[in-house]
Amino acid sequence: MKKAIEIKKLNKEIRNCKKCPLWKTRTNAVPGEGSEDAKIMFIGESPGREEDLSGKPFQGMAGKFLDKLFKKNKINRKKVFITSVLKCRPIIENRNRPPLAAELKVCKVWWQNQIEIIKPKLIVLLGKISFDTVIGEKEFKKLQGRFLIKNGPKYFATYHPAAGMRFPKIRKILEKDFKKLMTK
Ligand code: URA
Repeated sequence: MKKAIEIKKLNKEIRNCKKCPLWKTRTNAVPGEGSEDAKIMFIGESPGREEDLSGKPFQGMAGKFLDKLFKKNKINRKKVFITSVLKCRPIIENRNRPPLAAELKVCKVWWQNQIEIIKPKLIVLLGKISFDTVIGEKEFKKLQGRFLIKNGPKYFATYHPAAGMRFPKIRKILEKDFKKLMTK
């Protein structure tokens, strides 16, 4: 099957997913977007309000900051693939909350399938939750800013853009990391 058809089919399954209770509170699931031929895949944490409303990843403040990092490094958002380890917005009293381990566990099959179909050469893990979930090791601090080779694609661990917006020190590290990305 062609990649585009496979991704379309997968997106439909993600949008109809009821594997965890988050389907009850979501407006839209957020499968991800970009090119099915992407060489680079970016994986974040979970959708927020804007993403839930639009069904698209990284639309809010963190998304605007990510777009700035893309622009500075001549990364075309349409040519990469952007998604998150959790496809539905986790909320508590109408506010964002961190994903639960059980939610991340059942959602794993979706990003694993996305990687399998797209076969990116490089997977950029945005933040500790993405790193812990995808790599399965709690060594974010040690491995941030480095390329890791597991088997198959290369991985690169960096901070989440939301952290870069809040902390100037992390913003600088993110800027440095994105420059490093483009050297590979
Ligand atoms: N943060 C994420 O990790 N993913 C999104 O889609 C939006 C914000």
